Amino acid sequence: MRTVVAKFGGTSLAGAEQFRRVRDIVQANPARRLIVASAPGKRYEEDTKVTDLLLDCYTRAAAGRDFGACLHAVRERFDEIIADLGLDCSLEQEFEVLRRHLSNDPQKDYVVSRGEYLNSRLLAAWLGFTFVDPEWCVCFDEKGHLDGAMTLRTLGAALRPLQNAVIAGFYGADMEGRIHTMTRGGSDVTGSLVASAIHADLYENWTDVSGLLAADPHIVPNPRTVKYVSYRELRTLSYMGASVLHTDAVLPVSDLDIPLNIRNTGRPEDPGTTIVRKLPEGETKYPIVGVAGRKGMSVIQVEKVMVSDESGFTAVMLDMLKNRRLPFEQCLTGIDTVTLVIRSDLLAPCKEELFAEIREKLNPDYLGLTEHLSMIAVIGERDTESSDANVQVLQALARSRIPINTANQGAGKLNLLVGVPEDRYEDAIRAIYAAIDDSMQNERS
Ligand code: ASP
Repeated sequence: MRTVVAKFGGTSLAGAEQFRRVRDIVQANPARRLIVASAPGKRYEEDTKVTDLLLDCYTRAAAGRDFGACLHAVRERFDEIIADLGLDCSLEQEFEVLRRHLSNDPQKDYVVSRGEYLNSRLLAAWLGFTFVDPEWCVCFDEKGHLDGAMTLRTLGAALRPLQNAVIAGFYGADMEGRIHTMTRGGSDVTGSLVASAIHADLYENWTDVSGLLAADPHIVPNPRTVKYVSYRELRTLSYMGASVLHTDAVLPVSDLDIPLNIRNTGRPEDPGTTIVRKLPEGETKYPIVGVAGRKGMSVIQVEKVMVSDESGFTAVMLDMLKNRRLPFEQCLTGIDTVTLVIRSDLLAPCKEELFAEIREKLNPDYLGLTEHLSMIAVIGERDTESSDANVQVLQALARSRIPINTANQGAGKLNLLVGVPEDRYEDAIRAIYAAIDDSMQNERS
């Protein structure tokens, strides 16, 4: 029998109305046996996510301030769902446990994880499925890092005997039973781990959009929805800020070639975006899947005559970053130059001493820093292989008189990365999107 793991995000489980929709979706396909749930998200624009309310409870409690009203707001969200759906369950005891925990040296991750815990219990009751607490099967090490290999084994053992289940997303526990949460949006990762642990046929990620858009809709009006995207393309798109899926959610399913389908709970008839390694027979795909970017970048440029003949020059520079645990986004080397692209917020605290060390150890002819840059990636595993796309992108920027600070395309040919001034970021995205829109329309297999 086919197994589909369906993860429902916060907006998909924000209130009773959404719970009803989720049940319709789950019942429409019996293969949807394993469900991963987020905490209730926003019901409307100005609403607050339950996870944020819990975070507020914790902050107040940890500071010795009153958290009563805040905890009451959390309780109301769940009580409303229970009452509206007519569920025969009460969270009285659960909230008493939480209140007592908050009153006495609270643990942040435990408090914040309760949104997923409680919502999944309600969803399990609503669907008539077994509730599975990830406290027992999503494993963290003593440093609070997710132990992927152990989790896959434990999750597999816990879920295989079950016909159907609802598993809470976003958290797990270490060997001592201490709760740890993932980074925000982490239920996507739990869903991917569940799909991988039980070798599911498909991982559906139900959210509030009908898939991945080819550009940020706040910048480009009505960008197209991408139908198929490869795991690599998606990772790059999400890394560059297309925020439809948690960046770490791709790896567990891609390891096993499990397709990942992003769907819209509000429009279940839309096919969404499917992330695959290999396209299904007869399907076609846009050559360029999209354009995305990030602001807040800095570029360090080091020049020294004959640097290209001096072995170890770049290694010394990268060592300086490593010693400061300062990650870099790109490292471009040219004849007599080394260019490093680094996130400005990470560079800021150690900028002065890093520059002093570069001067002392490498004695460069020129050392420059350009700040307030943005990096834009034009992503497409196939079309960026041809120089056509690159020409179109660079021409589009030139036509709009947008200066290009850096341009980079590794041998991997997955994407072309261009650095442009931050204040021209939106213009650049629009110009590039307009230029590549044609090639996106021009589907080919
Ligand atoms: N509830 C958590 C958040 O708001 C995790 C999730 O929804 O995946 O980030």
